[in-house]
Amino acid sequence: MCRLLLTGGYRNISPTIIKCSCGHRIVRKDVIQTGLYLSVLGPSFVYVRYRCGRCKRVGEKLVEQETWDPSVLQPVRRGVNESDLRRFAEMGEITPEEVIDFHYSLERLTADSEEEARQL
Ligand SMILES: [Zn+2]
Repeated sequence: MCRLLLTGGYRNISPTIIKCSCGHRIVRKDVIQTGLYLSVLGPSFVYVRYRCGRCKRVGEKLVEQETWDPSVLQPVRRGVNESDLRRFAEMGEITPEEVIDFHYSLERLTADSEEEARQL
């Protein structure tokens, strides 16, 4: 798994997308179980058991660990991401004043909890 993370940005193997025989793309909420078949001789496999969100059929799929990318199970949520990006863009960069404010609010928090501790 670590190797996948480390090489994540540089792989040119396209991740395997799991599809039901009806053509529905399997996402995380359809997955019942995943497992790992480690093999000493050959490639290791990731085992995915799912119930199709459309036709409700249960299926299994073995994916070579090399081509397995858990993010293929992420539902596409483009809308949410775009609004987040817009929100961050509107906020602009963090200013030194904000950093100082944050620092002081942390100090206030610490002082408050020390005060409470004394009272208890
Ligand atoms: Zn299906």
